[in-house]
Amino acid sequence: MQTIVKKRLCILGSTGSIGTQALDIVRAFPDHFEVIGLSAGTKLDLLKTQILNHTPQWVMIRDNAAREALRTWAATLPFSLHILDTEADLTTALSDPALDVVIMAIVGTAALIPTAAALLVGKTVGLASKEVLVAAGDIMMDLARRHGGSLLPIDSEHAALQQCMTSLNGDSSQLSRVILTASGGPFRTRNPVTFADITPAEALKHPRWQMGPKISIDSATLMNKGLEVIEAHYLFDIAYDNIEVLVHPQSIVHAMTESIDGNIIAHLGPPDMRFPIQYVMTYPDKWIAPWPRLDITQMGALTFEPPDFEAFPLLKMAYACGRAGGSLPLVMNAANEVLVSHFLAGRISFLEIAQGVEKTVVHFSGRHVQTLADRVALDIEVKRHVSQ
Ligand code: MG
Repeated sequence: MQTIVKKRLCILGSTGSIGTQALDIVRAFPDHFEVIGLSAGTKLDLLKTQILNHTPQWVMIRDNAAREALRTWAATLPFSLHILDTEADLTTALSDPALDVVIMAIVGTAALIPTAAALLVGKTVGLASKEVLVAAGDIMMDLARRHGGSLLPIDSEHAALQQCMTSLNGDSSQLSRVILTASGGPFRTRNPVTFADITPAEALKHPRWQMGPKISIDSATLMNKGLEVIEAHYLFDIAYDNIEVLVHPQSIVHAMTESIDGNIIAHLGPPDMRFPIQYVMTYPDKWIAPWPRLDITQMGALTFEPPDFEAFPLLKMAYACGRAGGSLPLVMNAANEVLVSHFLAGRISFLEIAQGVEKTVVHFSGRHVQTLADRVALDIEVKRHVSQ
């Protein structure tokens, strides 16, 4: 009889949209995965449910009050549960040789330090936090290369690209360009003259994907696609001139590659994140997915159009910051993170997100820092500046 070797994983950001779907996949393959660790921000009740379902060895919760409540509750459990207090504790936990895969689903640049820690000890990191690559893609790719780890994208377009690229047989000089598709978000057909009146509730209503609030707003401004252009640049080492974005409202084709001989390979799938998450969690193997498949006879017409860079200036801004390089993508991303939270809280208008990002990028345009510690410090400085 064949013995199944379990993949042992931890999920950082386990109570968010990607984290809960990663646990759906664990439950779909109970004999194939073992959950070693979980971390959450504030959602204590959901974290407790996950602990009971998956009996991890360790957990972490960012919120201080929640951590104390968790400690009291953990003492009543019939199994031992280690509660991590500090970032240093997490770094130690990530260096456990028994750990195979780290699913990084913490929102925003809070994922920078733990991602670096996992790569430093040669882990395979499934990265859903694209902000990490935007802020420090050069550093992260270098860490992965030097320490034998790998970064696998938990992003539908990039997981799709990775699969399209297998047709190149590892020879990237055969690649002519890549195309990332964008749904266009909820305001694709709305008159830009009315963009000032957009409410958070309207912006959160994504036409195709069910996602967390931050990425939903980024999809409405097309900042998400801009971040993905930078993500693709670092992940696959592609020049910005060779990364194209096309609006494809049906969200069936996730990405395409065109080789130098003009042949185009497209990746199709339903708009369901469980497919790219499973792809990463089982990589390089493929396991039989239990999720509803794409019915090609039912998908209807597929359309593609160039994005409107005037109505959605953050996409243009992302290309400009990406090309400028240095710390500018970090500055753009940090400003965007704060401004999105301000928009969600009703403090600024939809248009003020892009205006604020542009102002911040101009303000910090001379600032370039190299090390991860300096990048983290600059990220904090930019966020403080934008908050004021
Ligand atoms: Mg995506």
